Amino acid sequence: MEWLFHLPLVLWCLTVFSLGLMIGSFLNVVIARLPYEKSIIWPSSRCFACYQPIRFTDNVPILGYLRLRGKCRACHAPYSARYLWVEVGTGVAFLSLFLAEVVFNWHGIPGMKYNHLGPDSSIPPFQCWALFGYHAVLLCGLIAAAAIDAEHHIIPTQVTYTVLVVGVIGGALMPWPWPQPATVASVFPPEITMWSHPDYTGKVPTGVQPWPFWGPTFDFAPPGSWKLGLLTSLTGALVGSLVIRATKWVFETGFGREALGLGDADLLMMAGAFLGWQIPVLSLFVGSVATLVLVLSARLLTRKRAGVAPTPPGTSVSGPASPRELPFGPGLAIGVVVTWFAWPWLGPRLQFPFFDATMMMILVGFMCVGLLAFALLMRRPNEPVAATAKK
Ligand SMILES: [Zn+2]
Repeated sequence: MEWLFHLPLVLWCLTVFSLGLMIGSFLNVVIARLPYEKSIIWPSSRCFACYQPIRFTDNVPILGYLRLRGKCRACHAPYSARYLWVEVGTGVAFLSLFLAEVVFNWHGIPGMKYNHLGPDSSIPPFQCWALFGYHAVLLCGLIAAAAIDAEHHIIPTQVTYTVLVVGVIGGALMPWPWPQPATVASVFPPEITMWSHPDYTGKVPTGVQPWPFWGPTFDFAPPGSWKLGLLTSLTGALVGSLVIRATKWVFETGFGREALGLGDADLLMMAGAFLGWQIPVLSLFVGSVATLVLVLSARLLTRKRAGVAPTPPGTSVSGPASPRELPFGPGLAIGVVVTWFAWPWLGPRLQFPFFDATMMMILVGFMCVGLLAFALLMRRPNEPVAATAKK
């Protein structure tokens, strides 16, 4: 009967997964309606083809979709497979977040682990739920933004700004190094003027906010104060937005054509409010790699599909991933999540440039020059503006 000891953990995992499915169902409504500026509350869910309201029992996550084989009960219009994937994806995302942050304490925050075998075992402690809930909101924002961008090539501000507000309020309520006491910041003695000091590599304490916006922290916003939490969130949002806007500007100056959208800047701004400014900056690079992988695999898939049913000459293959105007949102969202969960490994290695103002300036300068050179190189073969889809 030893497995019975694990029962609370199993029950919590099931609860969190079902919660994710239900919220995924809500995200589907957001994804389907927001790009058309429709209300997400009224009217109730209905078929896009025949406007028949969807029965409550058919709206049950996964089961409803599978039972009707993804078709409308009334008019048999097929629903996008996105409905199923967003539901399942949100459920899996919630379960993974719960396992990572509450069960295994991935980011190694003292006092965050849920010991389901301990004396007080039935319910994870409050700070675990605060951490999980806060980050679950960020995941929802990323999923909605990525899904809408993949389909419509826009990221609505209603999603990013709403989630941003939660990020900033949560940041002020859970200031670095919460839930650790403010005294943990004294690992850095006052005579250490730069947290990039080699003797202190990997010693920055982690809270719900991974790092403060700068170290040493300033006297007007000491560790554990709402002012520091608020400043860390706002700096994260500002830098997240600026890093995309600056990249966009430098690249377009060199390339002479539009690249990136301001929705991408909003996406990184939203992430910065939750994670501080350091993770979003790195997410831009990880996100570029992720986008490249997504685009290449989308092309492979399109080619395979085109091989099965060749399109008549003269018509272009219009798919969700048309290579002309590729959405950056999904790759950027993946970049944020990957960087965020690689942070226990990346953070200590990047303490030197990130807490050293001079080094940071030099790096930024090099990157701007490199990007400009790259954009100029890419420009040359496309000199005539009327370069149509010729590969
Ligand atoms: Zn219908």
